[in-house]
Amino acid sequence: MTIRKILTFPDPALRNVAKEVTEFNSELEKLADDLLETMYENNGIGLAAIQIGVLKRIIVADVSEEKNEPHVFVNPKIKVLDEKKKGGYDEGCLSIPGFYEEVVRPLKVEINFQNLEGENKSLFPEGLLGIVVQHEADHLDGKLMVDYISSVKRQRIRSKLLKMKK
Ligand code: ZN
Repeated sequence: MTIRKILTFPDPALRNVAKEVTEFNSELEKLADDLLETMYENNGIGLAAIQIGVLKRIIVADVSEEKNEPHVFVNPKIKVLDEKKKGGYDEGCLSIPGFYEEVVRPLKVEINFQNLEGENKSLFPEGLLGIVVQHEADHLDGKLMVDYISSVKRQRIRSKLLKMKK
């Protein structure tokens, strides 16, 4: 397992759209391991491959206290089961370090995905996991949590992070 470098906003690579995974092999397993390892190392609860610069539709998550319930979702598709409501969670993002913001998202979703063997699965994620999978699935389409907040706030975050990079 390798800890990978996480791209940070406003890196344009975070705006790419990731490609469907078609090959389920050891390379994909290695990628999933790296994603989990990188997420745990950075005390994250979710990570998308695009955040380490890999344009594949794969995300990982673990919202458990003990950090022992890793989830891997390949080619995830989110189906919204109710209207938008405040999730009640301040979201953070490993690509936008130091910023937390409550994002309005549907509370009930279904996620259809494939596992590392390529088998079709579905899950009705509850609570925080439901928020995380929506956040991570957004990454695969080049969408970031800052897109949900005002452009003034987004600009402020942008310039702060650009200063930090220097
Ligand atoms: Zn994120």
